[in-house]
Amino acid sequence: MKSSDLTTTILLAMLFGGILGGILNIFFMENPFVSDFLVGNVFEVIGQIFINSLKMLVVPLVFISLVCGTAALGDINKLGRLGGKALLFYLGTTALAITLALSLAIIIAPGEGFELSSTTAQTFTAKESPSIAETIINLVPDNPIKAMAEGEMLPLIFFSLLFGIAIVMAGESGKRIEAQFNDYNAIMMQLVVILMKFAPVGIFCLIAKTFALQGFDVIKPLLGYFLVVASVLVIHVFVTYTLLLKLLTGLSPWIFLKKMREVQIFAFSTASSNATIPINIENTEKKIGVDNSVASFIIPLGATINMDGTAIMQGVATVFIANAFGIDLTAGDYLAVILTATLASIGTAGVPGVGLIMLAMVLNQVGLPVEGIALIIGVDRLLDMMRTAVNVTGDAAAAVIIAKSEGALNQGVYYQRNTDERMLVRE
Ligand code: ASP
Repeated sequence: MKSSDLTTTILLAMLFGGILGGILNIFFMENPFVSDFLVGNVFEVIGQIFINSLKMLVVPLVFISLVCGTAALGDINKLGRLGGKALLFYLGTTALAITLALSLAIIIAPGEGFELSSTTAQTFTAKESPSIAETIINLVPDNPIKAMAEGEMLPLIFFSLLFGIAIVMAGESGKRIEAQFNDYNAIMMQLVVILMKFAPVGIFCLIAKTFALQGFDVIKPLLGYFLVVASVLVIHVFVTYTLLLKLLTGLSPWIFLKKMREVQIFAFSTASSNATIPINIENTEKKIGVDNSVASFIIPLGATINMDGTAIMQGVATVFIANAFGIDLTAGDYLAVILTATLASIGTAGVPGVGLIMLAMVLNQVGLPVEGIALIIGVDRLLDMMRTAVNVTGDAAAAVIIAKSEGALNQGVYYQRNTDERMLVRE
């Protein structure tokens, strides 16, 4: 299959999956064959196999590609500069995202006059969120193999960077190992290509399952909340990122958005920034033209610490819960929300649903009842899918902006139309 065909197939799979799921939800979920066998077994098994196969690549790919990237930089100062820029961009855009979310939520005021009794049937028990000190200590793994086995991204990134730096410092031995890692990297990328062929079926099943189980009814009681989160997500992508791209790189942001479509679909269907890392790295390098040394560092780091979409949900949710419980928030409270949510995004893992757990930390900070999370949990899956698509777009936008400032962006590739052929299909 030609890969531009593959892109279309993936889009269609998503569309038909959504339509089929919606129809099943409205007419057929009473039927045990549909609910238990089709949705509960067929869609579930194929969907989960697809997600597992994506996750399967994350740890080896991040390790190998980060080691290659760091070794290719060949210079610790450059690494420090990249890290500084990434942190600045990630924290800055997250703070911007949440400020935007709070502003719109305050103006529209979702949740005012909300019938608390009607939707409090679900309960929510907050899990303990890690403290900031813990997050910092855990940056350094006491055992890198354990960090890999448990898929802990920040310690894995830390170890991989050190390993790459050591390769640069190790002279001849380092050169030999670097060459081997480059070969491993080529093989990992080929694995991504293999997986992509399975993507349309996987995405179809995931989307059909979600829509069959969720339907659109869950949105109705929370329509206001849902729409405010969705609108801010859209504004953040189409206004904040496009402006930043235009102002900081001078490139056409629309090309970037167009080339991000496939990655966004992956993020949407898996609701996991981590699972999207392999596709995002491949896409950012091959289609958008970011050099491997930048993409392999900025994308996994972003998937771990940069969660603009999640911060947007948390901002709107805070205002919604305050309104629903009739609690007034002060300007100081809002500032606390901006700070806490920005920091919380560092500790939010790129897997489904964690944003909601970290919301507990934000609510605690301003003295709002954590049980309020039970009000919004019903629509969270759909919003999780949407915000994850925004999260990964932010990571790739950072990679482009930082690569441009480092002279590590191939503009020929960026503006090239059918880069699809460069990616995915190498037969
Ligand atoms: N699912 C999100 C992600 O992977 C995190 C969250 O907001 O729950 O980026």
